[in-house]
Amino acid sequence: MSGGWQGSTRKAELPANWYTELRPFVLTRDKNRCQEVIDGALCARPANQVDHIGDRDDHRPENLQALCEDCHGRKSSRQGNAARWAVRRQRPKERHPGLF
Ligand SMILES: [Zn+2]
Repeated sequence: MSGGWQGSTRKAELPANWYTELRPFVLTRDKNRCQEVIDGALCARPANQVDHIGDRDDHRPENLQALCEDCHGRKSSRQGNAARWAVRRQRPKERHPGLF
């Protein structure tokens, strides 16, 4: 019991019951509708993603919301992730001739 997780591992890890309990709970609670508010209106498209509203280490249902793929992608790109994905998607898969 040293409390080591507080210092070094700062990456957000999903709890063991994420896929079995938390995720389905949030999707059901939000009626499988995207909870993102765009220009003052609820997106409300079919949601298949669950997103952390605030702290990524806070897995309470109050901190979770259902999102559609688009909105989730937009949020992720703000965090710098989807930018990489976007680049990957644009480029056809091919091996660099000079690379082994
Ligand atoms: Zn949406």
